[in-house]
Amino acid sequence: MDGLSAKDIVGVILGIAFLVVIVFMRGSSSRRQPNDTFFNCWRCKALTPHNQRTIEAWRNEKTHFFCGACHTKWLQSHPAPPGQARPAKEYRPRRRSSPVGTLVALGAVMVISAIARSCS
Ligand SMILES: [Zn+2]
Repeated sequence: MDGLSAKDIVGVILGIAFLVVIVFMRGSSSRRQPNDTFFNCWRCKALTPHNQRTIEAWRNEKTHFFCGACHTKWLQSHPAPPGQARPAKEYRPRRRSSPVGTLVALGAVMVISAIARSCS
């Protein structure tokens, strides 16, 4: 029983570094912002500052944005189908990590640590 070897420690450190990179990439990608602060409303062409709704739309790769007034009109003319409506008060930001992502990261840590150990 010689406890942790240097290779084990290197493997763990590499695994943690890998994990930090994954978390950082996920975090930074979910906080992406449009390059422009303002957009021209697709309907009335008014110059409008981006808000939470349009930034979310931008992240979903939408290219047409509406100002608040036009969005309200659009919602009234296109009522959301039942079950898909998302009341504002129930809106929650997307979670940073998913159980699958955590499992994948854990697996990566174990693989890296195994590789580091076999490099002796
Ligand atoms: Zn408009």
